Amino acid sequence: MAETIEIAKTGRARCRGCRQPIEKGALRFGEEQPSQFAEGMQWAWYHLPCAAKSKPVPLKAAMDAFGGEIPDRAAIEAAMAEADESASVYPYAERAPTARSRCLQCREPIDKGALRVATERELEAMGRPGTGYLHPRCAAQYIEQDDLPTAIRKNSRGLGDADLAELERELAG
Ligand SMILES: [Zn+2]
Ligand SMILES: [Zn+2]
Repeated sequence: MAETIEIAKTGRARCRGCRQPIEKGALRFGEEQPSQFAEGMQWAWYHLPCAAKSKPVPLKAAMDAFGGEIPDRAAIEAAMAEADESASVYPYAERAPTARSRCLQCREPIDKGALRVATERELEAMGRPGTGYLHPRCAAQYIEQDDLPTAIRKNSRGLGDADLAELERELAG
């Protein structure tokens, strides 16, 4: 997925992190993601400090590619480093960016844009852990963990309230 940093051309976009408007002329971080309402992709915008907390990995890539001056760069980098340490805490949920993943439990593909649960799995051939994906309805059969919905909710900082509500319905099967 593409990501970018640019100067906000209008003051109309709202930050996906804090839900506040992003001021015209401020730097904003954008991540392209599957549209929830139509075919194709749309941009999700964030204030840089907000992206540092919830999107440290793509923000880093966008900052590396961005040629201009970034105000408060040191503070943003510190927030990214802190977020990065807890970034891949499993299990977490996200929207599938492609239709290429398959559910570890039922082996059926996971639709692009659908909610999926990410968990750690051993890659036997390589002997090291990787990320595997599950339909929310299949997750409880695969992941042995008490109070799975609470654990997933805590780790899924990229999802908004509506996504989380949908996720809990799907987890319940
Ligand atoms: Zn924000
Ligand atoms: Zn499944």
